[in-house]
Amino acid sequence: MTTIFANILGTIGDTPVIKINKLAPQGINMYVKAEAFNPMGSVKDRMAISTIEAAEASGQLKPGQTVIEATSGNTGIGLAMVCAVKGYPLVLTMAESFSLERRKILRFLGAKVVLTPAELKGSGMLAKAVELAKAHDWFLVRQFENEANADAHTRTTAEEILATFKDGQLDYFVTGFGTGGTLKGTSRVLKAKSPNTQIIVCEPDNAQLLGSGIPQAREDDGSPVESHPNFRPHLVQGWSPDFIPKLTEDALAAGTVDRIVPIAGDKALNFTKELAQKEGIFCGVSGGATFTAAMDIANSAPAGSHILCMLPDTGERYLSTPLFDDIAVEMSEDELEISRSTPNYRFDAATTGKQAPKPSEQDETAPALDEQALEFVKQVTSDAAQPIAFFALEWCEFCWSVRKLFAKLDIPYQALDLDSVKFQEDDLGGKIRAVLLDQLGSPTIPQIYIGGKHIGGATDLFSAYSSGELNRMLAEHDISMKEMPEDFEPASLLPGWLHKR
Ligand code: PMP
Repeated sequence: MTTIFANILGTIGDTPVIKINKLAPQGINMYVKAEAFNPMGSVKDRMAISTIEAAEASGQLKPGQTVIEATSGNTGIGLAMVCAVKGYPLVLTMAESFSLERRKILRFLGAKVVLTPAELKGSGMLAKAVELAKAHDWFLVRQFENEANADAHTRTTAEEILATFKDGQLDYFVTGFGTGGTLKGTSRVLKAKSPNTQIIVCEPDNAQLLGSGIPQAREDDGSPVESHPNFRPHLVQGWSPDFIPKLTEDALAAGTVDRIVPIAGDKALNFTKELAQKEGIFCGVSGGATFTAAMDIANSAPAGSHILCMLPDTGERYLSTPLFDDIAVEMSEDELEISRSTPNYRFDAATTGKQAPKPSEQDETAPALDEQALEFVKQVTSDAAQPIAFFALEWCEFCWSVRKLFAKLDIPYQALDLDSVKFQEDDLGGKIRAVLLDQLGSPTIPQIYIGGKHIGGATDLFSAYSSGELNRMLAEHDISMKEMPEDFEPASLLPGWLHKR
């Protein structure tokens, strides 16, 4: 890419089509369109920019007005990017059952996330968004009915596919539906310009809304009156909400859908993993589910067929979901065996490799301790105005837990971040560490002093807190600390990986 983009929004779309090599049946040409290549990692970036720009153009969205939407995550993440660039405040309503990383990403991008009870399903989060939009005069995106959602795919996704598969070469286009934006926007163009391409739409086998043939009751604005009777909670986040969206129904009514394929959740999870491990393609569960349908088609398609499968997002968005349930955090037997195959750096045996000698054990040629560093340590550990001296590193998780404890207890301290820019000149930070190592016999950081008395590292500080010693020492220096609940455990502030050992 040689273009300089005016801002991140210019990088939306033009996602790659990738050939499937190991998983495709013999003689069948399978491809995936990897929407994870969009800047926020999903297909919904396309509709996010399209709906916002359509609303700007129509005057529905005014400068500075708050945008609101009900979203299972990817739409919100796309909107959060667009709103960040364009300066609109953004509020998202989301059922509490969606993955935690989605909430965190949204808040990181500056959006507000209002959770709704899981049992009220997709309709609940939608109703809340409508209520908030009315009450505050916010712009409601209405992704399930908004034509600009489907138009995004008509203008971009469909044209990209036509440019990739020239001369009607594509036999099958396989997609799921969340809103139906992808389905409606893409299928109408393919049907018109590549009429031999069959459009395959898939849905969870335990929630067959389209397959049931039971119509969806709607309000005048196209939104659902109530949940579809066939809806059941399913494993494929981003797919079938608890109603048939207007945009999806439009595609069916237009006769552009050739086949509806029900997909089992366990197969979807399995193919998501297979794509990662056999093809190196890391997508979300809806991608694996769509790929399951594509494999179904592939297994009965004539030799030489070309099948394109949409992969709507990235697998990284599902770390806290069943997709990663059997992915271990601890070492497996195989991994332990690899560890045991050489002597050092193991948890079950002391490292036999030579360790760095303490300076006091070094020969006479070792550099003497630095005078300036010695003076610095002496001075900061005897500073009556700031009795707590905390030798720290900016990027050390143990130091972070100490900072958290001091913050929680409202204790003032001076942090001496030995790896910070301030301590880099003449390697003063390194020289101070050498002094601490010499005086304490320990190479580890953090080291904490109170009124000149050495406390130790993070765990020593936590023990001093628990035994009441910390409180007593602080009182000697007229420092009070905030009361914490009886069951407060400072070790809970340590990095998570430490608790596991
Ligand atoms: N998969 C995922 C992970 C999604 O977030 C979405 C959108 N909700 C879809 C598939 C379906 O896309 P569309 O809304 O265009 O039907």
